[in-house]
Amino acid sequence: MNSALPSSAPASSATASPVPALSSFRRVVVKVGSALLVDSTRGRLRHAWLAALAEDIGALHREGKEVLVVSSGAIALGRNVLGLPRRPLKLEESQAAAGVGQIALARAWSEALAHEGVTAGQILVTLGDTEERRRYLNARSTIAKLLELKAVPVINENDTVATAEIRYGDNDRLAARVAGMASADLLVLLSDIDGLYTAPPNEDPNAAFLPVVPRITAEIEAMAGGAGTELSRGGMKTKIEAGKIATTAGAHMVIASGKVKNPLRAIEQGARCTWFLAPANPVASRKRWIAGALEPRGVLHLDAGAVAALRRGNSLLPAGVTRVDGSFQRGDAVLLRGPDGAEIGRGLVAYDHDYAERLRGRSSDEIATITGFEGRAAMVHRDDLVLGGG
Ligand code: GLU
Repeated sequence: MNSALPSSAPASSATASPVPALSSFRRVVVKVGSALLVDSTRGRLRHAWLAALAEDIGALHREGKEVLVVSSGAIALGRNVLGLPRRPLKLEESQAAAGVGQIALARAWSEALAHEGVTAGQILVTLGDTEERRRYLNARSTIAKLLELKAVPVINENDTVATAEIRYGDNDRLAARVAGMASADLLVLLSDIDGLYTAPPNEDPNAAFLPVVPRITAEIEAMAGGAGTELSRGGMKTKIEAGKIATTAGAHMVIASGKVKNPLRAIEQGARCTWFLAPANPVASRKRWIAGALEPRGVLHLDAGAVAALRRGNSLLPAGVTRVDGSFQRGDAVLLRGPDGAEIGRGLVAYDHDYAERLRGRSSDEIATITGFEGRAAMVHRDDLVLGGG
């Protein structure tokens, strides 16, 4: 799938691996930093820049790509409105600033995307929503539903309730987690720098630009300095950490300058940027994780009709489950066995054991009556399923 784009990087890139084209991706997370979106001297939103970025997002959307935005800027906008001093803010001050700024930020995104005919849906997450399984699954299905409904999720950390111990603090790593959570295949970090250099370019005249990082090694990590700019928390260090998270989850990552107008179009047209390549695509890496890394907590026995439906690529519905063994919770890995007892695959189950037991053999229409809530139609969704076990 990786069609090579001519690299605009220096001669050293002649031997580098080919970089993918933006158009070859299916689901793209675009992370926008505060320093781009908010004018640091006046603390105002850069509307014209945002409108141009929304144009790029609209264009991707019209091509059938799914786009998610992770946008910073709440604190930077709110601190100005509240007239807070220009020193590092105390925790309660940034929480208050975020409370004020997030409203403006969400509105700006909603209007800019609406201008392109695209609906925005705000999601505010905390560290717990991306780390703790139940909440992770909930955030993930809201994102999936918004994408299915052709909306663009606009995500930020819920800074109003996040305290020092339980917050990301920087949106680079948050965006990488979101990329993993949404099984995105690309994360674009729009930054005030156009990519990774062997040393900080403003300090070292011999600093060389790196167009492609095939793998994040200790040497690459050492190239990332420390500090960020005044408004954004993440420097190159958090970007490299984001690269590790994203590529491990199967998403490529690209760091590109957001200082130009229409920054996504610029990437497409070959602007200088650094690509961090993922070893496998997100679906493959998620499936590998389900297949290998998780200890199954139970067994679902299926009838022949369900086995055939799974082999045709469908999800597992409660109707096809004949017996439920083990003790598992929603989101746990379970083994799937056919009528003869042979393992036919593994998957992440959408219901706790007790509900699975009550739902087995029943039609999906009956789920709400049996459980008392609108549950998921599938016992194991096809994205959470790997066939071909044992
Ligand atoms: N979540 C913070 C905000 O919206 C920004 C964090 C960051 O700069 O990475 O203000």
